[in-house]
Amino acid sequence: MRYPKKYEAIVIGGGHAGSEAAHALATMGIETLLLTMNIDTIGHMSCNPAIGGVAKGHLAKEVDALGGIMGKIADASAIQYRRLNTRKGPAVRSSRAQCDMRVYRQEMQVQLMNTPNLTIKQGSVEDLQIEERDGGYHVCGVLSKLGVLYEADAVVITAGTFLRGLCHVGLENFEAGRAGDKASYGLAHKLAELELEMGRLKTGTTPRLDTRTIDWASLEEQPGDNPPRRFSFYHEPPMLEQVSCAITYTNERTHEIILSNTDRSPMFTGAIEGIGARYCPSIEDKVTRFADKKRHQIFLEPQGLTTNEVYPSGLSTSLPLDVQLEILRTIPGLEKAEIMRPGYAVEYDFVNPIQLDHTLELRKIRGLYLAGQINGTSGYEEAAAQGLMAGINAALKLRREEPFVLGRHEAYIGVLIDDLVTMGVEEPYRMFTSRAEHRLILREDNADWRLSHHGHRLGLLDGEHWQRFCKKRDLIEQTREALASITVGASNENQAIADASGLGSLGNGCMLEDLLKRPKMTMEQIKPLAAHLAPSLDLDVIPEEVAEAIEIQVQYDGYIKRQERMIEETREMEDKLIPGDIDYDAINGLSTEVRQKLHRVRPRTLGQASRINGVTPAAISALMVTMRG
Ligand code: FAD
Repeated sequence: MRYPKKYEAIVIGGGHAGSEAAHALATMGIETLLLTMNIDTIGHMSCNPAIGGVAKGHLAKEVDALGGIMGKIADASAIQYRRLNTRKGPAVRSSRAQCDMRVYRQEMQVQLMNTPNLTIKQGSVEDLQIEERDGGYHVCGVLSKLGVLYEADAVVITAGTFLRGLCHVGLENFEAGRAGDKASYGLAHKLAELELEMGRLKTGTTPRLDTRTIDWASLEEQPGDNPPRRFSFYHEPPMLEQVSCAITYTNERTHEIILSNTDRSPMFTGAIEGIGARYCPSIEDKVTRFADKKRHQIFLEPQGLTTNEVYPSGLSTSLPLDVQLEILRTIPGLEKAEIMRPGYAVEYDFVNPIQLDHTLELRKIRGLYLAGQINGTSGYEEAAAQGLMAGINAALKLRREEPFVLGRHEAYIGVLIDDLVTMGVEEPYRMFTSRAEHRLILREDNADWRLSHHGHRLGLLDGEHWQRFCKKRDLIEQTREALASITVGASNENQAIADASGLGSLGNGCMLEDLLKRPKMTMEQIKPLAAHLAPSLDLDVIPEEVAEAIEIQVQYDGYIKRQERMIEETREMEDKLIPGDIDYDAINGLSTEVRQKLHRVRPRTLGQASRINGVTPAAISALMVTMRG
């Protein structure tokens, strides 16, 4: 059956990428259909019950700053907030919100169901409709399992771990996209039939424990931040009750049990062919790879306020259930713990993202976008960021407008997508702060400063939120100007106030801003002097996050300017577009290997070409000469 209504865009999958993609498309005025296997699992957190963490928090904040929904939903469902790395430099400070998984899912569903221009339907996509025209292939619709053909000019696939998903618990395995959900075979076969370069990856999760069987009283408590600080720059949903987590450790007895059972682990028997992430190892991986470590930390995180399930973070495993139980018996506080759901591993097909443009559109099939775990990434935030960008770019293409590509100096989202499409994926990709070369500029605190003007221009951030940003920006600028213009004379009275605030010697006098520049000084410390010298400058009304942003801007001014200069110096090469029809075979001086690599990646700019592994500076010079003509 051909569905009577033609949509402008279809999003396949309602996970973290699909939700953002559908929301972005519809908010940008595109008549959008979200087709997903099960409406009840839209927004489901397949693994840990948390949004954010180091570098992932940056991504989630950027999504929020652009007008995406992840930050808002995290805030509506958070049961514990923690800022990480607060004693380290501002580049690596990150937010993390542990969420009530049910509330997260529910809030996401409510959000999408109330998004104008968005229709949600339950259905499994089995096939894609592709037509040949204008010398190329274009997607024109999708076919569901029930034989319904839905037509659209743009399709975003966000199928997560579902493509030929195979779950493992010990030596048992079963076909599933994740525990409890069917795998997707038709779509996987279709993508293979299109001769896309594909591969197989693997990820795993922990057993879920019954809170009533954990001896919480014997464990080290880990409370959240007080006061908690929200994720979203623009939304303030009511906050849920905040809870504590707890910490425990494995020990040598735990490790003995794991080592004596490796022959029953699908990771070691060869039953799993997918490649797993080195940085997110299972407990059996950790015990074998770091044999000298006597213990591994485990965080016990409640999965919500209305469930008994607890997520033991750090205990991901695909060992058989009896071994999972035996492991728990050795861990303090978990000796009597009952498993509500076993830990397991899932392996799945992915599409090598080297075949995508920066817009996340497949070069081979126009109008077809891929986002999320299907591109070989791991994590909700990586998925959301890609979903948002695929949705935005699909909308722009339908509106016949210029694509929206973020540079590596503008956002972690820019780094993520540039890495994916330039280097491709061989193992699950997750974001780290070390992947960003300009990380002092790509901080969490200034994500709105960097990106919200884009969100507003694109129509994702409404007028009210934009005004809110402008007010904050003005407050920061005015306060900085004031601090730079207030002279602190070296009087005894001023020195006494400075001493009481721990500001040190005023020397021959200085500006108020100079005091804030001193290492580890805070706005809180300069308040008494400011109140004394300029009573009209009321620093008490400045919100904490604005005060922090000012501290960072003032204290790291020199470093930030240096990084901005570096960005400027490389800008010419970074922005220099390579013509889409360039003939690499006709360029003298390129080796066959370099030619092959350029053909495979089809870099958008000279900057991107220079990052392709094996493309030498000499090859870049040859390219530049050719482009100058
Ligand atoms: P998903 O959230 O998986 O969503 C996919 C969506 O597509 C689902 O709604 C599904 O129903 C739908 N779908 C699939 N096929 C079809 C089809 N043919 N037709 C219609 N709808 C379809 N991340 C980490 O950061 N750390 C971890 O340790 C970690 N461990 C994990 C362990 C397991 C077992 C699993 C399953 C995931 C784990 N993740 C982990 C990954 C995290 O869950 C994903 O990165 C994230 O959910 C990916 O988002 P996504 O939107 O790409 O896909």
